[in-house]
Amino acid sequence: MNHDDLRDWSKRAADWTHAYHAGLRERPVRAPLTPGAIARQLPPSPPETPEAMEVIFADFERIVPDGMTHWQHPRFFAYFPANAAPASMLAEQLANSIAALGMLWQTSPAATEMEQVMIDWLRQALGLPEGFSGTIHDSATTATLSAILTMREAALNWSGLSKGLTGQAPLRIYASAETHSSVDKAVRIAGIGQDNLVKVPTDSKLSMKPGALLGAINADRAAGHMPAGVVLCAGGTSVGAFDRMQDLIAVAHGQGLPVHVDAAWAGSAMICPEFRSLWQGVEQADSIVFNPHKWLGAQFDCSVQFLKNPTPQVKTLGLRPSYLETAGREEVVNFNEWTVPLGRRFRALKLWFLLRAHGLEDLRTRIRNHVAWAAEACAALRALPGVQIVTEPSLSLFSFALADDAATEALLTRINDDGRVYLTQTRHQGRYVIRVQVGQFDCTRDDVMMVVRVVGELMAAA
Ligand SMILES: *Cc1c(COP(=O)(O)O)cnc(C)c1O
Repeated sequence: MNHDDLRDWSKRAADWTHAYHAGLRERPVRAPLTPGAIARQLPPSPPETPEAMEVIFADFERIVPDGMTHWQHPRFFAYFPANAAPASMLAEQLANSIAALGMLWQTSPAATEMEQVMIDWLRQALGLPEGFSGTIHDSATTATLSAILTMREAALNWSGLSKGLTGQAPLRIYASAETHSSVDKAVRIAGIGQDNLVKVPTDSKLSMKPGALLGAINADRAAGHMPAGVVLCAGGTSVGAFDRMQDLIAVAHGQGLPVHVDAAWAGSAMICPEFRSLWQGVEQADSIVFNPHKWLGAQFDCSVQFLKNPTPQVKTLGLRPSYLETAGREEVVNFNEWTVPLGRRFRALKLWFLLRAHGLEDLRTRIRNHVAWAAEACAALRALPGVQIVTEPSLSLFSFALADDAATEALLTRINDDGRVYLTQTRHQGRYVIRVQVGQFDCTRDDVMMVVRVVGELMAAA
């Protein structure tokens, strides 16, 4: 295959894309397969000689779409959304066509400079004050790892980078049990250790208790441990918990500890001023991550980390061997020094396309609709006999359950086998609950109310 063939096949792929998206509502949301069903259809060894693209494409159409869970399906209410607005898909095609790596300014000035401008557009869109800069990572997991590595090194006055952690007092990171498991993963990878992630108790509103945070830090100091930083949660993955930023950041900063805020999902909602009270005080944070690839509509992957002062992170992750120096241009930003990988995709392009093709007002309308429809679906489910709302809507996420865990789990299995909607579960305060998250880019009110209809029908039939 050469570039002339690519031109023709790209057109075929575009037509396929259009038909795929037009037919999504007809498909079950979740792949109705048993493990091994796809692998059995693939030859066990690679071909020695070329195969015709016609054959490859036909196999793709035969095997792949029915083996997918359709994240762009308008009735996808599981996990969190991974919205891919068409404008961002188009930008991804173009970025893929150029196929450049933006690790240094010099390796693609447009990628670096557009990334800087897009970070500032998003800072304004979310209502954050001037002074935050930032970068784009592949995922919130990597952004949080970067923040925690920076906390580790700041606490060690950057000696860990050269000497390692041997012989150091245990470093301690603080978060509530509502924060995402990426925090647990980060402390493991960073060499801090799971046992040194202190899960600070939460109050009845699921916010970490400021007094408990202060108590934990003081107790650790008395025990000879080394507090290093606090991770706060703005929209937890399980049920959408929010830590009270203002009070908790004040405690952390009073103890000289940096704060990283995980707003991977809920950050997108902050383009609507009326939701910003949920993270009031966030402007005091040192680092904030949010994923435009979740609710906002930028095709995966696109995770933005805002930094109050990038120097500590660049000091931690930056490494400049002579083959990465840019002669005579010491003033330019080389984004590989802000992140873990060296190579980086041109992710800013899809933000540029998305934000221009929709404008903030259209994106706000979608998010406001999702929040309103989630409230409506929650009220309608509450009215069904036997259904209990376990957590009230946090933005567009709520959870419900039946009388006992076994009945709830059985209902979820039947909902997902039915295929019209896709929901997933979590455990909240020991109880098995079904999450309903409204956020797919193209979903309508009718799509959302289908959750109520499916639950009602299946319960009546039970
Ligand atoms: C989705 C999510 C993450 C992880 O995001 P990735 O980009 O997939 O790593 C972390 N925190 C929260 C709150 C999330 O919702």
